[in-house]
Amino acid sequence: MSKHIVILGGGIIGLATADACLKRGHRVTIVDRSPEKRDGCSFGNAGMIVPSHFVPLAAPGMVALGFKWMWNPESPFYIKPRLDFGLVSWGLKFMAAATHKHVDQASPVLRDLNLASRAIYDDLADSGEDFGLVKKGLLMLCKTQHGLDEEAAVAVKSRSLGVPAEVFDAAGTAKLDPTITMDVAGSVWFPKDCHLDPNRLISAYQRRILEGGGAFLWNTSFEGWKREGNKLVALKTSAGDIEGDEFVLCAGAWSDDLVKDLGLRIPMQAGKGYSLTLQNPVELPTLCSVFTEARVAITPINGALRVGGTMEISGKKEHIEPRRVQGILKALPKYFPRFKVTDFDGIKPWQGFRPCSPDGMPYLGRTKAASNFVVATGHSMMGISLGPVSGELAAQLVDHESPSHDLTMLSPDRYA
Ligand SMILES: Cc1cc2nc3c(=O)[nH]c(=O)nc-3n(C[C@H](O)[C@H](O)[C@H](O)COP(=O)(O)OP(=O)(O)OC[C@H]3O[C@@H](n4cnc5c(N)ncnc54)[C@H](O)[C@@H]3O)c2cc1C
Repeated sequence: MSKHIVILGGGIIGLATADACLKRGHRVTIVDRSPEKRDGCSFGNAGMIVPSHFVPLAAPGMVALGFKWMWNPESPFYIKPRLDFGLVSWGLKFMAAATHKHVDQASPVLRDLNLASRAIYDDLADSGEDFGLVKKGLLMLCKTQHGLDEEAAVAVKSRSLGVPAEVFDAAGTAKLDPTITMDVAGSVWFPKDCHLDPNRLISAYQRRILEGGGAFLWNTSFEGWKREGNKLVALKTSAGDIEGDEFVLCAGAWSDDLVKDLGLRIPMQAGKGYSLTLQNPVELPTLCSVFTEARVAITPINGALRVGGTMEISGKKEHIEPRRVQGILKALPKYFPRFKVTDFDGIKPWQGFRPCSPDGMPYLGRTKAASNFVVATGHSMMGISLGPVSGELAAQLVDHESPSHDLTMLSPDRYA
């Protein structure tokens, strides 16, 4: 039976959810406070599809690394100390989750979700959608032998999980991508990973949704929930009440504030990151890569080179911290010596807020907070990668089907 699905948030997760619900014959309305021509976390990101990223952010070693990097203004991971109960509580939960046991439990879940999402992207591209999907894998580039040894250990784990990974020395790495001059000790190549152009992806989803009869309410802000007993009847917005049969929360880093009135706690911090896109670069790799020691992501997009990084837990204030941007840019010539930091003079950095849960797992599922409410958010560093499968799962939940993946670890009620 066709239902009216109201989706709060029109980033990648909201769009993929809308697309999947429309395919099932539902009526869909997406509510977003941004203007139609917008920007945000789903646009300027690195566009990587990453079955290789089966280790959640909350992992052993990250707490110590966080403390070490806290004092370095150019470091890739930074938590700004501030007197904020939400941050302290999130930090304690992050520490509690950063264990081997959690990583062992989370890895197969993230692997399966990422592989399922990749398959949906494949189908989307095969159906004729052009969003710049390149299926050549991802290189984890290591500057030092120590870094390569650590990454080689990840490759062993990866293969044990059924995700192919191959280790290469400097010469082997150069052969894998001869279009770029590299100064590295070696690399691990994850052939199942891909990259795409996030802007074209978002445009493709928006066009599909409009063609499928979906409606967008831009410049429309959330103002509250209207409920009857345990059921939501409408979303209160700046454009009036939007009534629906089912409601899906996809509001990214802002999601936690929007469900407090429902008595739902989904701890969230915004993980700010930056990217810079260089048109006409001196060289252009064909593969996307991550500089492992510097935690910088490199993606060739439409003939341009996108360089992105940093995870700055410093609130949701839109402010570009020049020293962190410098930290990203300084890494580039160390790995790709034909580049100079000054190549980026005059390029405005883009910023986006990753929706970060403390245990590094998305919130995806139904909740006790309301009987007709689905939560799909908290995808942190993997929202593009996990977008299509999250949309498909949200649509299954909307239809009260048992989901095709075990969502126990993703329950939105896990911190309730
Ligand atoms: C530098 C960087 C690089 C990245 N690289 C990758 C990558 O390579 N691969 C990958 O998978 N992921 C990557 N990510 C992460 C990815 O971009 C995010 O996980 C993803 O975009 C989150 O999507 P979302 O739909 O949950 O949130 P968003 O895109 O933030 O969408 C949420 C929407 O909700 C709306 N909203 C919020 N509050 C309200 C309100 N009160 N009323 C109405 N509307 C509201 C917002 O306007 C927004 O449009 C990267 C992120 C960064 C910063």
